[in-house]
Amino acid sequence: MNAPCRELTLPDELTRALAAIYEAMEEGYDQVAREIGLTCQGCPDNCCDSYFLHHTYSEWAYLWQGLRALEPEQRSRIEHRAVEYQKKCRQALAAGKRPQIMCPLNIDGLCALYSHRMLVCRMHGIPATMTRPDGQSMRFPGCFRCQEIVETKYSQPDQAPCMDRTDLFRQMVGVESRLLGEKRHLAPRVKMTIADMIVQGPPSLPVPHCQR
Ligand code: SF4
Ligand code: SF4
Repeated sequence: MNAPCRELTLPDELTRALAAIYEAMEEGYDQVAREIGLTCQGCPDNCCDSYFLHHTYSEWAYLWQGLRALEPEQRSRIEHRAVEYQKKCRQALAAGKRPQIMCPLNIDGLCALYSHRMLVCRMHGIPATMTRPDGQSMRFPGCFRCQEIVETKYSQPDQAPCMDRTDLFRQMVGVESRLLGEKRHLAPRVKMTIADMIVQGPPSLPVPHCQR
């Protein structure tokens, strides 16, 4: 008989490490947003309907820590919304369109899991740079509203303040490696929406001889 798959949970030490990375991201974000004069207040857009894929088991496990702490009715409402999200997402992708569907965690305009939201939810908006492990530099211009402000305030976009994500991303990779440890070779690549993570349940890894 096959052994069951084993749930991947974040030990306390990695939970604290991830929370510290998130906190540093927020501080960096707030500082750059303040300097540029970007605020989400009154924005006609809502980034929570943007189509983003997420790539780490650590964030997936952290999200589930938050989901488990919700009242059962709230969690079941979110799970239902996640299934609906997936249906609409499949339809949009089948029609060759980029999905634009409200995140199942956005309830009445507010994030139901604010302290457990994903990295991209914390970083989207401001200009940022990153140096990839292969040495290639990347620059992100920020959201449309940020780009509008930058255009009016600075003669060149690269004169605007921006956040360097390199070190924080390196730390995220460190948390992911410590979480997976020697089981890394068993871990399929993560490429999921938040809805997928909710519907699929908490992350688990196939242990040898296990078939999901
Ligand atoms: S990040 Fe930018 S586009 Fe998104 S809500 Fe804030 S101001 Fe609007
Ligand atoms: S997790 Fe929260 S902040 Fe991120 S997209 Fe969903 S509702 Fe918005």
